[in-house]
Amino acid sequence: MQNQNHSFKRRDFLKKTALSVGAFVGAPAFSLLGNYAQNAFPEEKKLGVALVGLGTYATTKLAPAFEHTTYCRLAGVVTGTPTKEKEWMDKYGIPKANVYNYENFDQIADNPDIDIVYVVLPNSMHGDYVIRAARAGKHVICEKPFDVSVKKAAAAVEACEKAGVLLQIGYRCRYDPYHQELMRIGREKPLGDIKLIRSEMSFYGVHGSNWRYTDRNLAGGGALMDVGIYAIQGARYATGMEPISVSANSFRTFPNKMDGMEETIVFTLEFPGDIAATLCSSYAARNDYIEVSAEQGNYGLKPSYGYAPAQGFIRNEKMDFPHYNQQAVQMDAFAKNILEGSPVIANGEMGVQDMRIIEAIYKSAKKGGKQVRV
Ligand code: NDP
Repeated sequence: MQNQNHSFKRRDFLKKTALSVGAFVGAPAFSLLGNYAQNAFPEEKKLGVALVGLGTYATTKLAPAFEHTTYCRLAGVVTGTPTKEKEWMDKYGIPKANVYNYENFDQIADNPDIDIVYVVLPNSMHGDYVIRAARAGKHVICEKPFDVSVKKAAAAVEACEKAGVLLQIGYRCRYDPYHQELMRIGREKPLGDIKLIRSEMSFYGVHGSNWRYTDRNLAGGGALMDVGIYAIQGARYATGMEPISVSANSFRTFPNKMDGMEETIVFTLEFPGDIAATLCSSYAARNDYIEVSAEQGNYGLKPSYGYAPAQGFIRNEKMDFPHYNQQAVQMDAFAKNILEGSPVIANGEMGVQDMRIIEAIYKSAKKGGKQVRV
C-alpha cells in the first residue's frame, strides 16, 4: 500500500516551501522559514521590538526567542517595575534610552530605534496599549486575547488603521507547520469533508494567585478567555470557516475559586455545512489536543497548542515536520510583513472575531446553554 502519509513528510514540506508557497494559507511563514535557517539578514536592518509588560511570557518565551529571529531584535522594554529595568538592560544590552514605564510610554513616538511595540500585559490592558502604540506611530503585536470585548478590540483595530500601522495578534500556532498542515488538510480535503472537531486546552491553575485566576477586571473571563481561545482558533483554521452559532455550559469544580469567572467550560461551535466543533477549556484539568473527524478518517495534534512541540497524526501515521521556535517565527513573519508591505496572517480582524465568538459563548453559558448566533 502506498504511504498515505507521503505528503506529510518533512522533505515534501520543504519542497512545498521552496516551490509553491503561494498555495498555502500560511505562505509568508513558510517562505520566511527558508531565510530563517540562513540567519543572514544585516543587523542594522533588523526591526527593533519593545516588549510592554515584563511578566512570565515576555521573560521566559519572547525575550529568549530573539536568539532565533532573523528580521527583528529586542531593542526596548516598557515596565512598571523599576527593578526590572536594570535587570533587562544588563541581560539584553538594552540602552537606557529604550527603557520606558507606563507613564512615559507615549514618548516612544520619538524613538527611531523602536519599530514594533509588543503588548504582553494582562488582557484588559491590551487594547489601550495597542491604541497608545499606534498613536506613537509604531507597528503593534498584541498578545491573545486581543482584549476582553469586541468593542475594545475593534477600537484598537480602528486606531491602527487610522495611524497606518500594522497589527498582529500573538496567535503563534498560526505560523507553525503542524497547525498549517491542519489548514491544508481542511482546505484540500484528502480525507473528504470534515464532520466533527474536538479540541481542548486546559491546565491546572485554579489555585494560583495570578490575575488570571483572581481578577476578573484584568482577565475579562476565565479559562475560555485565556486558553479556550486556542481551541476556538483551532476549529476556525482547521475548517477555514467561521462559526454561525454557539452553545455553552460552564462549571465550577472548586466552588470557592475564580469568583465571577469560568473555571471549566464546554462549548459547541456550529459551522456551515452542519459541522460541529465540541470544545472545552479548564483551569482544573490538563489537556491539549485537537482531533478532526472527516469522512475517510481522522487527524489531529496532541500536544497541540502548548509549549511542548506539537505531535501530529493522520489516521495512524505520524506527521513529521520540523519544530521551530514559534515566538521567533511569529515575530519574524510580522517583521517581514512590515519590510515587504505584505498582509498580516494573524491580523486584528481575526482577533476581533474571536472576541465575537467569546461574547456569544458567554451569552449562551449565561442562558444555560441556549444556542446563540455569532
Ligand atoms: P504575567 O502576570 O506574568 O505578566 C504580566 C505583566 O504585565 C506583569 O509582570 C507586569 O509587568 C505587567 N502589568 C502591568 N500592569 C499590571 C497589573 N495591574 N497586574 C499585573 N501585571 C501588570 O502574565 P503573562 O506574561 O502570563 O501574560 C501576559 C499576556 O500574555 C496575557 O494577555 C496572556 O494571555 C498572554 N500570553 C500569551 C501566551 C502565548 O503563548 N501566546 C502565553 C502566556 C501568556 P511589569 O512588572 O514589567 O510592569
